[in-house]
Amino acid sequence: MDCIFCKIAAGEMDANILYQDELILAFEDISPKAPTHTLIIPRKHIATTNDLQESDKELVGHMVLIAQKIAKENGIADDGYRLVLNCNRGAGQEVFHLHLHLLGGRAMNWPPG
Ligand code: AMP
Ligand code: ZN
Repeated sequence: MDCIFCKIAAGEMDANILYQDELILAFEDISPKAPTHTLIIPRKHIATTNDLQESDKELVGHMVLIAQKIAKENGIADDGYRLVLNCNRGAGQEVFHLHLHLLGGRAMNWPPG
């Protein structure tokens, strides 16, 4: 399988990694859409949120809590930030390895485009 996020998780491709443990990694988005734009991914390959299973509950909760921690560390927690999971092409998903976007550091509009 040719998956760039699996390669980052395996250390075969460079990324600016901000956090990692046995389950997940967080790294800077290569093309940031906000002053803070971090991606939080599971180490194991899960293509989309449609592929999540009951047994992934803790994994996804862990991803969200690490996003919260990074938001606090970056000083954007009080002003506000956005967590995004794009599922499939209609929602703008381009990399088919689950990733949680943490975006912040600027004002954002709602609804998103
Ligand atoms: P999505 O559109 O939700 O699939 O988001 C994919 C994100 O991955 C985009 O924001 C890209 O800028 C980002 N991205 C793609 N390749 C890399 C890479 N090698 N390192 C870091 N971020 C990447
Ligand atoms: Zn993958």
